[in-house]
Amino acid sequence: MEFNLEKTIRPHLVGMKSYSTSRPVENKNQFILLDANENPFGNFNRYPDAENVRLKQKLAEINKVETGNLFLGNGSDELIDLIMRVFCDPGKDSVMVFNPSFVMYEIYAKMNNVQVEKLQLNSEFQLDKKEFENAISKTQAKILFLCSPNNPTGNSVDDLEYFIQSFNGIVVVDEAYIEFSPLESTVSLLNQYPNLIVLKTLSKAYGMAGLRIGVGISSVEIAAFFNRFKPPYNISSESQRLALEQLEKEDEQAENIQTILAEKEKLKKGLAENKEVVKIYPSHANFFLVEFKDAEKVYQKLHEANIYTSLRHPQLKNCLRLSVGKPEENLKVLNVLSEI
Ligand SMILES: *Cc1c(COP(=O)(O)O)cnc(C)c1O
Repeated sequence: MEFNLEKTIRPHLVGMKSYSTSRPVENKNQFILLDANENPFGNFNRYPDAENVRLKQKLAEINKVETGNLFLGNGSDELIDLIMRVFCDPGKDSVMVFNPSFVMYEIYAKMNNVQVEKLQLNSEFQLDKKEFENAISKTQAKILFLCSPNNPTGNSVDDLEYFIQSFNGIVVVDEAYIEFSPLESTVSLLNQYPNLIVLKTLSKAYGMAGLRIGVGISSVEIAAFFNRFKPPYNISSESQRLALEQLEKEDEQAENIQTILAEKEKLKKGLAENKEVVKIYPSHANFFLVEFKDAEKVYQKLHEANIYTSLRHPQLKNCLRLSVGKPEENLKVLNVLSEI
């Protein structure tokens, strides 16, 4: 595999300057800040730290990388969009995605007028290697999006390294659910593969979906491009402060993950005993893809009990995606199902 970052980035961005600020991050009160047209009064009057210094230090420690390997987004959703915009010329370039997988790859591709090449997964939601080799021999796609554990299917993609190694362009491995998985993060492969971008998020296992923080982890060279071209103040000061505060509570977070995993097993057992359930797909995430005899009916019954689930029609026929909730919530799901 030959990978050249400068040739992969959109040509006009290579030499482009970006917006930069040069104000102090710490002890702002010691300085007179007249550089950003802020209001001198108020509680939220200052722009946030554009470089996310302190939050990045903590995230680097957690992910066992350097701060230079990181770039942050307003949720990983923003990073998916930014990845398209940094590497793909509208109306010309294409990306490859697994099917079924996270729909936002396709949505952001289309918004950016980037073509989408779909790689159909087999009945176990894996991609056949022959098919992959055939597909990449015919494509100039800039980016391959892999989601593992995959959403909405829940399974991990087998042999991720093979795909990272075989693809000529950027490979994005979306690890939104990795903290629930028994498998290792591909962050450990970063030193070997300069084309790898790992996406993580604080929205799922860390329980901070409301703060909107997505984490990109890559080579220092790739991260530098994103830090240059991301919207400078994309993470609010309150989000940065609160996320840091939450990330310090490591024991509480680990405990929550254990609780969710234990609940997941109970939910699986309960579902397996239900007559409406046809199949529970293997999951390394905090949700199950479940095939029912009549998913529409199950969805309606749950809905009538004020329980929201995700109906995956028409692509995944008769399937619902069900997140693992609190113990009493999961019990209620099983109760409603048993009454059908
Ligand atoms: C939930 C999820 C995300 C997280 O998105 P945020 O914008 O960080 O909340 C990313 N990728 C996948 C596959 C997801 O399911």
